[in-house]
Formats: sequence, structure tokens, C-alpha cells
Amino acid sequence: MGQRTPAPGDRSTTASGAPAPSDQLSLTVGPDGPLVLHDVHFVEQMAHFNREKVPERQPHAKGSGAFGFFEVTEDVSQFTRAAVFQPGARTDVLVRFSTVAGEMGSPDTWRDVRGFAVRFYTSEGNYDLVGNNTPIFFVRDPMKFPHFIRSQKRLPDSGLRDNHMQWDFWTLAPESAHQVTYLMGDRGLPRTWRHMNGYGSHTFMWVNAGGERFWVKYHFKTDLGWQTMTNAEAAEMAGLDADFHRRDLFEAIARGDHPSWTLKVQVMPYDDAPGYRFNPFDLTKVWPHSDHPLITVGRLVLTRNPENHFAQIEQAAFSPGNTVPGIGLSPDKMLLARSFAYTDAQRNRIGTNFHQLPVNKPIVPVDTYMFDGHMAYEHSGAQPTYAPNSGGRPFSAGGAHPEESWAADGDMVRAAYELHPEDDDFGQAGTLVREVMDDAQRDRLVEQVAGSLLGGVRGEVLERAFWYWHQIDPDVGKRIEETVRHGAAREPAAGMGES
Ligand code: NDP
Repeated sequence: MGQRTPAPGDRSTTASGAPAPSDQLSLTVGPDGPLVLHDVHFVEQMAHFNREKVPERQPHAKGSGAFGFFEVTEDVSQFTRAAVFQPGARTDVLVRFSTVAGEMGSPDTWRDVRGFAVRFYTSEGNYDLVGNNTPIFFVRDPMKFPHFIRSQKRLPDSGLRDNHMQWDFWTLAPESAHQVTYLMGDRGLPRTWRHMNGYGSHTFMWVNAGGERFWVKYHFKTDLGWQTMTNAEAAEMAGLDADFHRRDLFEAIARGDHPSWTLKVQVMPYDDAPGYRFNPFDLTKVWPHSDHPLITVGRLVLTRNPENHFAQIEQAAFSPGNTVPGIGLSPDKMLLARSFAYTDAQRNRIGTNFHQLPVNKPIVPVDTYMFDGHMAYEHSGAQPTYAPNSGGRPFSAGGAHPEESWAADGDMVRAAYELHPEDDDFGQAGTLVREVMDDAQRDRLVEQVAGSLLGGVRGEVLERAFWYWHQIDPDVGKRIEETVRHGAAREPAAGMGES
């Protein structure tokens, strides 16, 4: 094992482009002597190394992704005029998959919801659909969001993750029941990112060329079919290869095995929303397929790995607020909050001008009235920096009635959503348990929940967890309670009892 000797002419450079003196040896006073401060190359290397990381995303820290394309295979132009969804359109995309609660180095196969963020580089600007592998979420009011995430992260004293804290939050926020049931079921452990669906989760607006408005929900159905892991497989994989999902996607694409998903949408006419049996903007609810059947739009295919993970994945800055003409948001309060929070997170993580980085740059020219700031790279020369102006620089006047909008009127309140006839916290979770899961899946659900509760959940939180599962389904609730009480009696030392 000899040291590699640079060939004559081999060289790297400093950041300013001059030949680097050495990437192997620092400058010292004699071979055993002290380092000197004017070894500028060494000092620069160390200073930059200290700044090599940016803050990880608060949720969704661990992930990866790939590039590809989306092609429209059907005609949905009656519902939206967005160029990206017109017949025959083909658009480059970037997709980032992630876990939610785990930090940057955490195992890919821990039970969690998975992020499924799609960026369409459209001819009308970037359109980001920043969803998950579940059609629903834990909370419906964004005021609860930071509390929810902290409850899934780490204890303030020990820095440990904690089942007791997770169940404490979930059971005190019973609107979480549907998502928790989904998570505790088989789909909480996807085999790979390629073998899971993605959902836009929120309700969005589509507007057609005639100005007609619709509410839509997006479903990306994996063309490989859903595949999941057992608890034992996932636990073993967490030890063997913490990056299993990242590796699987990268290697599949590298060998030309390009994963694909079929995009389908559910469409609700604008005026149907007030009379629908569920509040259609409540992120803890699905629209049953029988009410709004799936309509095929096209195909998402991933074909190209990132050349550089940091530049193209870590710095990829998605935002649900990035919409294009013909697509809008909706009264879903979680969606409205995310339309601010995501870009704000990237301003904090990456910097004010994150949108100028190649991975975030739209394919269309940008002519914005946002200027300067850290690392400003794009600029508009000497053009006026204000609007209106007499210098001929265009500016948007804005119509009185933005198309992608909805009627809203009333006093300002801090209140829950208005209830529609069948709205409650537990109904759809119960449907999932009773009508979608089979006996074997229900058995695994009971085993998973009981195992989680036996992992340190105690006192009133444990009692509330029994109540919560009884509300979801009396039979499953009874079985969970019996399994836990039996297990607790058998193994009193397994993290039980008041601390
Ligand atoms: P359907 O019988 O039409 O649909 C049930 C759907 O459940 C399937 O299409 C599949 O969605 C999904 N599913 C299948 N196995 C599982 C599982 N183990 N865990 C979670 N989801 C699974 O019924 P409804 O549309 O009336 O919905 C009934 C329940 O199904 C809902 O309460 C919800 O919990 C769940 N569900 C509904 C979805 C929807 O958008 N309507 C989407 C996903 C789940 P997919 O085809 O998307 O994989």
C-alpha cells in the first residue's frame, strides 16, 4: 500500500483557480514544527469544511431522489388548462423521497410516513406537488404541526425517541386516528420507494380554459405494485443497511430499471364541496373512490440519478406554494400554511437565493422583483428595481378576480372546520380497519400497536390509547388492550410503570 504519487501535471486548484500547493501536506516550520497561519490553502480547506453542511430539514431530513419525466397519456383538459397536464405534454421532473421523523443518518426502514415530493419543470414555471405515501395526515390545523413533529422527534433531556411522547400527542389529537392506523398497518413499512404510491394528500384546485373550477386529489400509483416489509425484515435491514431505500433507487436507475407511477386524480365540481358528506378540505380524510372515481392522467418515470447528492437533492427546495396557471391551492389550512413554511425553511437552510440554484431554477426565464441578498447570482443588470416604472420593465398588474381562488367570507375566528354530515375523527380509520384490511393485516396491526404501546407507554397515556383504538374499532381496540395488558403482566420490566 504505497502513497499515490501525483503524475507530473496533476493538480487541483484553490477556489480562486490558482494551482493548489498540496492536498497532502500542510506547511510547517521544519518537518516536526508548528503549522503556519499563512498556509492559505490549508486554512481555506478547513474553514470551508467547517461550513460544508447546511441545516438538515426539520421533518423529512433523510431522503434521496432522482430525475425523470412525466407524460400525459389521457385528456384531462376539461378540468385544467395547466400546460403540464395537456394531452401529449412531456415534462422533466425531480422526485425526492424521504422519511419524516428520522434525522439525516437514520435508517430508511424505520416505520414512518414517507415523503413523495414531485417537481415538474413546466413551460409555465415550476410546479411542486409535495406529498406523502399516504393520502392523509395526522393533523388538520397547522397550529398543531410543530408540536406534532416534536412529539415524534426526541426527548429534551435524554435526546431519545419516545413511544410515550408519540402516543401522548396522537391520543390528545384524535384526528390523527386515520393516519396512525394507516401508519401502523402494513404500509408503514414500504419495501422500497419504488413499491409505494404517492399522494398529493391535500385537495387542490384545477381551472380549465373556460374558467371552470374543480377540486382535485392526486394519486401516483406505483406500476410495480405496493410491497411492504415485515417488522422483522425492516429491523434487520435497519442494521444491515440504513440506506437501503436510497441504495435501492440509485442502483435500480443505474441498471436501467426505471420505476414508474401512473398518475390518477379524483375530481369534484367546485360547487359540490359544501354539500359533500365529508369536509373535502380536511387533510385527515380521503374522498372514497366510490364517490369520486380515479381518472388517469399520465405516467411518471424516473430515469436519471443525481450526479451530486448535495447539489441536486439536499439543495432541492420544493414548495407546495409553487403552482402554475390552471392549478391552485384550496381552503385546506395545512396546505395554506405549507405554502409559506416550505420556502421559509429553504431561506433558512440554503439561503435567500435558493431559487437561483440549478436544481431549483425553472426552465422558463425568471423576471422577478426580488433582488440581492446572500449569494445573489442571477441579476437583471441596470433594469429598474421597482414597479411601476418608466424604464420599460414589465410588471404584473393583477386581475381583480384571480382564477385559482375560492369564495371566503366571515368573521375571523380560531375554530375547527365546519363539520359535514359524516365528519368525525374515527370513522374513516374504522373503515380502513374493517373494510380494507384482511384478517392477516388486522392481526399484524394489533401486534404492531400493542408492541409500540409496550415500548414504554404508561399511565393515563396508555389508558387513552386503549380508548382511542376502541373508538377506531371496538374489536381491534379490545384485542390491542388485551395483548398489552397480558404483555405488561408478563413483562413488567419492559418500560412499563410510572416514571
Ligand atoms: P376502496 O375500497 O375503494 O379503496 C380502498 C383503498 O385502500 C385501496 O384502493 C388502496 O388504495 C387502499 N389500501 C389497500 N390496502 C391498504 C392498506 N393495507 N392500508 C392502507 N390502505 C390500503 O375504499 P374507499 O375509497 O371507500 O376508502 C376506504 C378506506 O381506504 C379509507 O378510509 C382509507 O383509509 C383507505 N384508502 C382510501 C383511499 C382513497 O383515496 N379513497 C386511498 C388509500 C387508502 P390505493 O389504491 O390508493 O393503494
